[in-house]
Amino acid sequence: MKAAPFAFVRAESLDHALEQLAQHGGEAKPIAGGQSLVPMMAMRLARPAVLVDINRLPELKTLETGPRHVAMGAITRQRDVEEDTALHAAVPLLREALRWVGHVQTRNRGTVGGSLVHADPSAELPLAAAVLGAALILRSRAEGERRVAAADFFIAPMYTATGEAECLTAIEWPVWEGPGVSCAFEETAIRHGDFAMASAVCQLQFDAAGICRRAAVGLGGVAGTPLAFPDLAAELVGRRVEPRLARDIAEAAAERSEPGSDTHADAEYRRHLAAVLLRRTLLGAAAKSGAPALAA
Ligand SMILES: Cc1cc2nc3c(=O)[nH]c(=O)nc-3n(C[C@H](O)[C@H](O)[C@H](O)COP(=O)(O)OP(=O)(O)OC[C@H]3O[C@@H](n4cnc5c(N)ncnc54)[C@H](O)[C@@H]3O)c2cc1C
Repeated sequence: MKAAPFAFVRAESLDHALEQLAQHGGEAKPIAGGQSLVPMMAMRLARPAVLVDINRLPELKTLETGPRHVAMGAITRQRDVEEDTALHAAVPLLREALRWVGHVQTRNRGTVGGSLVHADPSAELPLAAAVLGAALILRSRAEGERRVAAADFFIAPMYTATGEAECLTAIEWPVWEGPGVSCAFEETAIRHGDFAMASAVCQLQFDAAGICRRAAVGLGGVAGTPLAFPDLAAELVGRRVEPRLARDIAEAAAERSEPGSDTHADAEYRRHLAAVLLRRTLLGAAAKSGAPALAA
């Protein structure tokens, strides 16, 4: 199938892009890497009348690393994030997540912002954003700039808080200061590069004695949006991440998931996978950190 006819506008500035989005209302869509939008258009699941190309806007390519957060322009390519060593030191979960995203070829074009706005429930970057508590910066001509917490951004499968005339301009990723930060991302898919049947992620911070001092955990692919569990993460704080605790936290998280069934896996299997994967990430992150005294 071919895409329905559409007009194409190459935005010359962010203001120009916002003007186009405002002018055409819901009929226009930004195009970033095109790795999700173009296939959707080819299948006629999306039929924008106007594509607003935001690929050449320097305003959306910024990267600022501060002590508390990294502010990343929305059209930062996924592959650039993966390869940036300083960024990896600041927000290690991004590289962990990105190695599961599609293929090198798709990551070369695909943008971080595009993945977040596309909001596939199985996608890795939305899960990382939800778990870390990233902030999304949106801008429109009429309303100016607003900031939305990841917890409020992902509303339903492929539906976010982004308004019709809004452009995601940047993402602020929290930086966990201090030593002992360790993270892990695990997923199961039919083939590597496919969307996950279930995925799990954690970021933990340990003190020198191996006690967990800060924690974030979440699950992907098992509900309409990525799931973060701050209350379960809090139960890890002040304790060693040993197998029984990891299992209890993982099972409690999986219990709260709402997976669907399809030809690849039924809901019960997805929930089981979620528990296995989250337990594995917790123990994996603890082992990587060198946290001592992991019980057998
Ligand atoms: C073969 C293949 C395998 C893939 N596997 C995976 C995978 O395993 N995991 C995964 O997460 N993804 C996967 N993807 C999708 C990929 O990660 C895309 O890059 C991503 O979903 C969309 O990013 P993009 O920059 O290409 O956005 P586009 O396709 O250009 O846009 C996607 C949507 O976001 C909107 N949009 C884009 N940028 C903005 C912005 N700044 N402001 C407002 N709206 C915006 C567009 O209007 C559109 O609705 C795969 C893609 C392919 C082709």
